[in-house]
Amino acid sequence: MQNPPFDPHAAHFSGEETTQDKSLRPKALTDFSGQSKIVDNLKIFIGAARQRGEALDHVLLHGPPGLGKTTLSHIIANELQTDLKTTSGPVIEKPGDLAGLLTNLDEGDVLFIDEIHRLNTVVEEYLYSAMEDYKIDIMIDSGPNARTIQISLNPFTLIGATTRLGLLTAPMRARFGITCHLDYYHADILHGIILRSAGLLQVPIDSDGAMEIARRSRGTPRIANALLRRIRDFAQMKGDGKVTLAIAKMGLDALNVDEGGLDEMDNRILSTIIHKFKGGPVGVNNVATAVGEEAGTIEEVYEPFLIMEGYIQRTPRGRIATERAFRHIGVTPPQQHGTLFS
Ligand code: ADP
Repeated sequence: MQNPPFDPHAAHFSGEETTQDKSLRPKALTDFSGQSKIVDNLKIFIGAARQRGEALDHVLLHGPPGLGKTTLSHIIANELQTDLKTTSGPVIEKPGDLAGLLTNLDEGDVLFIDEIHRLNTVVEEYLYSAMEDYKIDIMIDSGPNARTIQISLNPFTLIGATTRLGLLTAPMRARFGITCHLDYYHADILHGIILRSAGLLQVPIDSDGAMEIARRSRGTPRIANALLRRIRDFAQMKGDGKVTLAIAKMGLDALNVDEGGLDEMDNRILSTIIHKFKGGPVGVNNVATAVGEEAGTIEEVYEPFLIMEGYIQRTPRGRIATERAFRHIGVTPPQQHGTLFS
């Protein structure tokens, strides 16, 4: 029987923050690799807000899981030398929950709301006045004596993170002064992240071993770190403790980690386009139904990586599997697609 495929996303989707994530998390902007445009801009915005003695404008971080949204929000609070309070969209059930969080913020503090697209509408609308004017209405008493009073909040910074920008309402998006889109990381940046993590974990590793893990980490630092920990086990049990190219290859193959770093859903998407829709073009809704995933999640979470790596192309008529995708799935590309790939 084959081993189940390695699923480094599992912890993320269950909403837990693993202790591993915490220990490897960079603490300062200078330790945060890649995403250089975002980092450069944030340095300016943070510096300017500090110089003026004001709270930083609200920040929206969006992009696929594991690319550093939580890490960046911790770093922003560190750089602002303020406290960070964290929560998540589905946890805030009613305006009272949000009021509790907001009234506990000190001047300049950062409130991080993960999965902000999952806030319910009533809570979301309640958040608007807090974000705009640092004011909220609180209902006191009940029955005939019920009345609302307005209370002022300390100026604060809201950082919202989402994997699904498309699900955020326009009024919510408009209330963020700073919006950053995190992109997948290139292998050479992940290589550096793996070497840094190996240093922190005191795992001996050579450059080729690190590169092999980097190439097969789906452009995602969380996956790179998770794979490093597992390959460390192979190095310990099957080698002399050092992560080399041979050990990395052996471990990654044993974990069923794909050569190109694609995960199970990536492979299902490609194989669906190729086997069920003859390589495309096919609309995203048809692919979504066939693989049993939401169309929006395919578009915002899976496709960007497959497009970046050249496995699929988005055309006005739909998605097309490229020659690389056919080779990856082990199917000979059909002749009529030849012109597309030249
Ligand atoms: P997200 O919130 O986007 O799902 P996280 O911020 O939790 O992702 O990042 C997951 C892990 O990846 C963190 O533990 C952190 O160690 C690592 N990581 C993410 N981005 C970077 C980066 N740019 N440089 C170094 N490590 C990173």
